[in-house]
Amino acid sequence: MKITSIETWSHKMKLKNPYTIAYETINSTVNVFTKITTNTGIVGFGCAAPDMEVTGETEETVLDVSKNIIEPLLKGADPLRYAYQLQKIDDPLKKHPSAKAMIDMALFDILGKKADLPIYKLLGGFKEKIKTSVTIGILPVKETVKEAKKLINDGFSILKIKGGKDVDEDIERMKKVRQAVGNKIQLRFDANQGYTVYESLKFVEETRTVKIELLEQPTSKQEPELLGKVTNNVPILVMADESLMNLMDAFKLARKDLVDTVNVKLMKVGGIDEALKINSVAKAANLEVMVGCMDESALGIAAGLHFALARQNVAYADLDGHFDLIDDPADGAVILKNGTLYTNNKPGLGFNL
Ligand code: MG
Repeated sequence: MKITSIETWSHKMKLKNPYTIAYETINSTVNVFTKITTNTGIVGFGCAAPDMEVTGETEETVLDVSKNIIEPLLKGADPLRYAYQLQKIDDPLKKHPSAKAMIDMALFDILGKKADLPIYKLLGGFKEKIKTSVTIGILPVKETVKEAKKLINDGFSILKIKGGKDVDEDIERMKKVRQAVGNKIQLRFDANQGYTVYESLKFVEETRTVKIELLEQPTSKQEPELLGKVTNNVPILVMADESLMNLMDAFKLARKDLVDTVNVKLMKVGGIDEALKINSVAKAANLEVMVGCMDESALGIAAGLHFALARQNVAYADLDGHFDLIDDPADGAVILKNGTLYTNNKPGLGFNL
């Protein structure tokens, strides 16, 4: 099999509900899509969700590296030798993880379509579905509670609540949400690096009765040791998100025992192949993995879902980036029923644009 063309284009999608996190407010998102055509008629699709703050990329940089780095290296190449092809683009795309994820996705899509299997089965198919959390951005306490009730009504049973700007308000927010949703709902909290160690410990101590399942990235990614100080002093799970950008980060976090769990997003680590390697490092260190996402098309969410379903160790999913998109060209690539995600069981990533 040979790659005959690689087309790449960007697509802007509005959000139904703009949201705020510790450092910004977001009301639309741009994904870059790729279509890799082969001489057999099999076509693979992928997408990138560049984000300056998280992946260090923009729409323009993804389009640029696609044309000037990826195309020259992969045109004419055999897409089924995905490990080799990904190795060729690994070094030049070191600072372009979502662009790499986009190509990784398209290569896996081709492999799955050739094998006539959904990717999660091709990779082991440990499970067939996973519950996802759904995120509530930073809102005033009252609105957070209102949104939480609405989401429970929609069938979700895991809420991930954002904070990190004001620890006292966050504590109140979590208490009020717990009162409103009852004890059967799982609550996760993401501080997006907004706390000091002191604030992290205070947050955990004062929300003890709320029974929060996990605390995501409480402290700055600049100082990974701070995560360790929180992890070693609280009874709940502490998760690294911004502190885990690649395989080496996973090894460092694991070796120094700095966290209990890690958030693996395909867009920041560079795709499914890299996520599987990170998952193995995490498993070796007895760390569970959550698959996370950016604001990305259902195509990207499908890739994250196939990764999560393939492996036992991916215990948590936060794959909600597509729920709120208007004009998602890959709508239908994953199936949501009562807060649980399923693939559509079609070959590859399950979608043709
Ligand atoms: Mg996070």
